[in-house]
Amino acid sequence: MSTHDNHNSDARPGPDRLGTLRRLRHDMVREQIIARGITNARVVRAMARLPRELFLSEALMNQAYSDGALPSMDGQTISQPYIVALMTDRLNLEASHRVLEIGTGTGYQTALLAMLAKKVCTIECHAGLAAQARSRLERLNLKNVEYHVGDGALGWPNGGPFDRIIVSAATERPAAPWLSQLRAGGILVAPIGRAGDIQTLTLFRRGGFGVTSYPIIQCRFVPLV
Ligand code: SAH
Repeated sequence: MSTHDNHNSDARPGPDRLGTLRRLRHDMVREQIIARGITNARVVRAMARLPRELFLSEALMNQAYSDGALPSMDGQTISQPYIVALMTDRLNLEASHRVLEIGTGTGYQTALLAMLAKKVCTIECHAGLAAQARSRLERLNLKNVEYHVGDGALGWPNGGPFDRIIVSAATERPAAPWLSQLRAGGILVAPIGRAGDIQTLTLFRRGGFGVTSYPIIQCRFVPLV
């Protein structure tokens, strides 16, 4: 992954700022991720490598490692680092996995998935966000991602199956196409609940006897539209 080339209009931090941001990133991983119980070495290593500032506007870069969600384009948000790490941890990703992501957003979560899985198929309904995420990931040299602009509730256009599915927008229940595109034994992680409310981040496992759900933590996501 290269983070120092400069052929895109997004602002890039200078060398002094890069050093500061790297220190803040390592502090974030220690204090917000490991100290809260996420110890999966692949997840921790990827969080420590991925520059979150590259997914933010220039004005917000100094807050890249603050402990919360931040605004992105179109009134959307980039998720809190801890929630991104937690969702990724619960997916229990293997290097061979094909992953479906609903709600590309800034592409921060997408990049993390691309670092840990074989293939990521990601759906975003805002064309502008999807295009920006794609150029950011290309700049990070993450090539194992396919992008689709459309309604994620319809699932991936060319079908599954996927080993893992991650949903980054609140929904009252998993959409039927997600469960039908999830392979047997597969895991889906999604914030379940009403928009505007607190939701419950929930893990669904598709087993031989149907789908079982396990609550993980309370959370607050923007709605699936
Ligand atoms: N993990 C992302 C956060 C994404 S916010 C990040 O850290 O950047 C949720 C995203 O889901 C938003 O970008 C929103 O536009 C998108 N979204 C909402 N409803 C959608 C739908 N039906 N299909 C596809 N994307 C959707």
